[in-house]
Formats: sequence, C-alpha cells, structure tokens
Amino acid sequence: MRDNPIHPTVDFERDGVQHGFLKVPYSGDDSGWGAVMVPITVIKNGDGPTALLTGANHGDEYEGPIALWGMTHSLSADVISGRVIMVPAMNYPAFTAGKRTSWIDGGNMNRVFPGDPDGTITQIIADFFSRTLLPMADVVVDIHSGGKTMEFLPFGAAHILDDKSQQARCVSAVEAFNAPYTLMLLEPDAVHLYDTAAENQGKVFVSTELGGGGSASATSVHIARRGISNVLKHAGILAGDVERGASVNLDTMNPECFITSEHRGLIEMRHDLGAKINAGDILAVIHDTDRTGTAPVECRSKVDGIFMGRHFPCLIRPGDFLAVIATIVD
Ligand code: CA
Repeated sequence: MRDNPIHPTVDFERDGVQHGFLKVPYSGDDSGWGAVMVPITVIKNGDGPTALLTGANHGDEYEGPIALWGMTHSLSADVISGRVIMVPAMNYPAFTAGKRTSWIDGGNMNRVFPGDPDGTITQIIADFFSRTLLPMADVVVDIHSGGKTMEFLPFGAAHILDDKSQQARCVSAVEAFNAPYTLMLLEPDAVHLYDTAAENQGKVFVSTELGGGGSASATSVHIARRGISNVLKHAGILAGDVERGASVNLDTMNPECFITSEHRGLIEMRHDLGAKINAGDILAVIHDTDRTGTAPVECRSKVDGIFMGRHFPCLIRPGDFLAVIATIVD
C-alpha cells in the first residue's frame, strides 16, 4: 500500500505547542491545485502516553469541536506529561458544510475505516488516522452527538470486545469520562467504524453521544470538556483527580430496544428523553399528513427502560430511526 498523500504541517515528535494542518491534496472546480486543510494541534511535553482526541467524525455534531477548539488554545505543554493530539473536526469538509457527510465525496467518516490512501478525500483522511495517528496513541476519545437527525441522553460508551482485558481498560476510561449515563455497546456492523480501527490496534477507546439536533447546549459542552479532561487525568497526561459524579449504567443488548418508523408523517412525542418507560407505553404517535381526520398511528415500546434517544426532526419517514429505549443495568 502506498504512503498516505496527506502532509502534516506539525512535527509529532517536537516538544511544545504546535497548531497546524493535515494538508489533504484536493483538486476540484473551486480549487485546481488545492488542499483540504484539516486543523490539528499537537501538544507534547517529554515522554509519556499519547491521547488522540477528535470531534466532528460526523460533521453536524458539535460538542467535540467546541470542547476541543477551546482546549487547543487553553491547554499548555507545561501542564501535561506526554502528548495530546487534537483534531477538532475529523471530517472537516462535512463540518464546514454543517453536514453529517462530506460535501466533496459524500463520505461518512465512520463507515469508511480503515480507509484507503488511493480513495476519496474521506477515505484518505481515514487512512491517515489508521496508519499514522492511531499507532501513536495510547488512549483515543471520539466525541459524537446525535447530529441533525437524532438526539440522545448524554452518554459515554465502551464496546464489548473479545479481549476482556482491553475491554476492562476501555470501560475504566469511559467511567473516568463520567458522562451522566454510561453504556455498553455491541455494534451490529462494526467493520468500518473508527472505533473498530482503534480497538483492533489495542487502543483504549472512548466514544460518546452527548446530545444532538445539530446544536450543543452549555450542559452538553460542559460534559464533553470535563469528560476529556477526566480521561487525560485517568491516562496520567494531566495531573489531578478525576471529577466523578453519579452515572447511570445502561445497555441496549435487546434488539427490541431500537424502534424504526414504519410510517410517514408528523411525529408527536409522548415522552421526553430520560423518562422511565414500561413495555407497552406509547412513546409517540405519527399523524398522517396527507389528510386530516385520521387517527394517528401509535408507536409503543416493547421493553422497560429509559428513553435514551429519539428522532429529532418532527417529520419522519418509513425506515427512520424513531427511538431507543435503554435497559438500566444495576
Ligand atoms: Ca455520530
């Protein structure tokens, strides 16, 4: 496989603070001999572990970019031991367009790993993460949120892995992140996720969903900022104690936790996120907007649990994610 064509303008081995770019060769109608300039900050102080911190893997999810852009100018080298690599907007073309996927190639960053140096812009960025950035890292934090089409209770997540000692290290880092909710995940289709690329390299990986709707709140940004700082403390990169509050443990192992819409129309939620739900409860109704005078379709939960995630826009179609009810784990 050929070398990745991305040229980083930072030296990953140099001590101190460096702000620069991952220069991705780009030739389009708007820029013939151009480059996509993905902002990156590297902060290094001597030997020690490396944290790789990312946001906007999906371009319309904002807690990661806000927390990390702030940290790029607030974090100094003298307060860390080791190295922090921050890419606040991993899929930068998607981020600048305010979209989940890249405006250049339609690429969904979290569906193209491990990437391809001969592929499209999104695949080239993914390959650079797989073969250059991930191998440098000990701990990897990728901050997701619901984006424009979904909204979630704020949770940190670890995956169920074959390697139970690696799984335990991941769970320990997710617990240090200390979001209000903590979730164990078994991905149905994990092959092309960034998560899987990191986990396959034996890394400690922390994922999150911290809100959604295509925006961010003061509370959700605070959870992101505190969580990242906690993981850096947990890894020994920042000094100080992890700030711990209560976190509710959840899982979504039962496939019936997930509800997909079979109808088109105007959705009326009957509960808000965080509500305790019993099997049989009506979560939402969908009004038929082709005509008036029709009884709405009732959408019921098949499981007991907590209302963890929902479709965000008020218009919904068959096949859209409607809701997820998580099981509370004692
Ligand atoms: Ca996402």
